[in-house]
Amino acid sequence: VEETLRQAQKIEAIGQLTGGVAHDFNNLLMVISGGLDMLDRQTDPNRRRRLMDGMIRAAQRGASLTKQLLAFSRRQKLRPEPVDVAAQIGGMRELLDRSLRGDVHVEFDFPDSLWPVEVDPGELELVILNLAVNARDAMPNGGTIVVRGENLPGLNDDEVAGDYVRLSVVDTGVGMAPEIQSRVFEPFFTTKDVGKGSGLGLAQVHGFATQSRGTVRIQSEVGRGTSIELYLPRSSGVPSKERHLVDLT
Ligand code: ADP
Repeated sequence: VEETLRQAQKIEAIGQLTGGVAHDFNNLLMVISGGLDMLDRQTDPNRRRRLMDGMIRAAQRGASLTKQLLAFSRRQKLRPEPVDVAAQIGGMRELLDRSLRGDVHVEFDFPDSLWPVEVDPGELELVILNLAVNARDAMPNGGTIVVRGENLPGLNDDEVAGDYVRLSVVDTGVGMAPEIQSRVFEPFFTTKDVGKGSGLGLAQVHGFATQSRGTVRIQSEVGRGTSIELYLPRSSGVPSKERHLVDLT
């Protein structure tokens, strides 16, 4: 009985993961197809170059995603490393602008010396993309999404103790009632129309945060907006600079 149960749990976990990957793939394909569409109409060589760079990055991210899936099927974990979050996320500007809508803008708010964190850099980007897409969906009339990083020294509560980096994705959208907030990390929980939401975005965000030895919190008020806050422990490592093959800034 126990073996059957373990098998069932494993199959469920794989199902959740493949669903999450399909969700991310969909976002990346949206970037690529949207980019191709714009490329078709764009004549300015600089703009064309930037569009192509963005699409290359999306394709690379898709490739790293399938690698993660293969790693999981071999029962391996993500590959955390010391990451300079401001640089990593800063490189996503074009990708984010293109994944959102014309009436939704992204602002970055990072201090000059944000501490490094120990995360899988590809997974971090997917998390930010997921959160930004949710924020966009929450602002049907447009608005600004703020992606903020803060150093929080010496935290001390039940979940987090020590030096943390808080990464928040803040919107001024529809917000969430408490009974929704309590369910959003459940896999497949969605309030979106069929075909629009898989309910896997925040489940993936939660998995990322806990696997990175951190946590995720929600601040939200109906009619005012939402802030999704990732708490990630400070890393004592030194981030490598080599990851930014295509610098879009
Ligand atoms: P999906 O986006 O596919 O529905 P998620 O797990 O990312 O799946 O989100 C689950 C639900 O949480 C959404 O359907 C929505 O109701 C709610 N939600 C997530 N992010 C926000 C946000 N920024 N503002 C308001 N509601 C949100």
